[in-house]
Amino acid sequence: MGFLDARPGFHRTWVYPLQVKGRFQSLRRWTMGALQAFFFIMPWLSFNGRRLLMLDVAERKLHIAGLLFTSTDNEFILLLLLLGAFGLFLVTSLFGRVWCGYACPQTVFLEQWFMPVERWIEGGRGVRMRRDTKGKGTFDWWWRKVAKFSAFAVMSAVLGMTLTSFFDDPKALWTGQASWVAYGAAFVFGGGAFADYAWFRDQFCSYLCPYARFQGALTDGESWVISYDVPRGEPRHKGKRKSPEQGACIECNKCVAVCPQGIDIRDGYQLECTSCTRCVDACEGVMAKMGEPTLVRYSTEVEDSGGSKVRFFRPRTMVYIAIMVVLSTIFGLLLMGRHELAATVSRAPGAMYQVDLEGNTRNTYMLQVENRSTSGDDVQVTVSVDGLPESAELIAIPMLLSEGESKTIPLVITMPVDGERVRTLPFEFVVSTPEDSVSVGASFKSGN
Ligand code: SF4
Ligand code: SF4
Repeated sequence: MGFLDARPGFHRTWVYPLQVKGRFQSLRRWTMGALQAFFFIMPWLSFNGRRLLMLDVAERKLHIAGLLFTSTDNEFILLLLLLGAFGLFLVTSLFGRVWCGYACPQTVFLEQWFMPVERWIEGGRGVRMRRDTKGKGTFDWWWRKVAKFSAFAVMSAVLGMTLTSFFDDPKALWTGQASWVAYGAAFVFGGGAFADYAWFRDQFCSYLCPYARFQGALTDGESWVISYDVPRGEPRHKGKRKSPEQGACIECNKCVAVCPQGIDIRDGYQLECTSCTRCVDACEGVMAKMGEPTLVRYSTEVEDSGGSKVRFFRPRTMVYIAIMVVLSTIFGLLLMGRHELAATVSRAPGAMYQVDLEGNTRNTYMLQVENRSTSGDDVQVTVSVDGLPESAELIAIPMLLSEGESKTIPLVITMPVDGERVRTLPFEFVVSTPEDSVSVGASFKSGN
């Protein structure tokens, strides 16, 4: 077992995928290009002085398209995560592992950055295979490896820094002015990228990625998969078809040579297959020369067994769509009713109540207030009580909160002793700004 190989006792066969061209590769280049543009440009985009997308871990704030979610907005974060998960379930049930083949960062950066650089420095599939066997240990082998891994280290550092830019100020980060925590995060992200793209590669999809493990549960007989046309292809044979009994597959092995997962799609659908469509383009090119349609293509189990056309709306997809509609509706309703102020109150640790020298009962609370507005202005926060007798006296320190700021202040309520009063009196703190007001329930204790 080599360093960072996935399974102890498992001898890894290094995969040398052959370069391939075709209509699906062109389509992938466009989608991957768009996703890379998103990845590299998004950290620099702001709207009204606020980041379009940023997760500020230190401040526990999430900025999305002008909205600000804080640590008191857990329900929104949960709904967004659930929407993303069910969106992925829906796409997977319809189009199989289209995410893996067209959008996953593992595939995008491996195929668009690391594999081309590897080819440029070490040569194509055949040359690399020869160098790694017959030429291993020679000066030529060494300098190419050093050059390749140096280039990989630089690319991994760029990826690590860019990913960290989603959590910090990109300008400060790229000009050496960010905190050591930010550079530590960039180092960890970059190190992970280097280990993965330089060495772990196909093993990530085959053994580590949890999404790959869920495939069986997310797809059904009508989901798209890459599959080999067995009735047309078999029995396979070398060279041109010599009799009508022979299948169309000429055993050129091109579909296997191009596969970055090192599998043979003719053995049937396999967990390792990331639906990258490289084998489709490979076979399409080979079969075109024979004047025949490709043997490897997008298909479904239903179509392969001679069934009718697949349905977009079927019970599974309808359930996913219904859940997404419900989640989106809840999200929208919560967003419409969302206050720009968030307040929580708790009793100060220690005694439930105290009686002072004048015989007044005193209760102390801790009030946490957060300004969730995105106006950019500081807001003056005032506190009053509602539901207590007029004799109750509130002592509260005035508060000024900037955008996204949260503060905790003590509140003291003093009331004269009244023999008639119940021992627990419920009331509300009313926390207000010139624009908004929220009420938080509390109780005044004057006995246990
Ligand atoms: S079998 Fe085909 S689609 Fe699947 S990973 Fe290999 S090349 Fe990609
Ligand atoms: S590329 Fe097509 S013809 Fe060649 S081995 Fe694969 S399935 Fe057969």
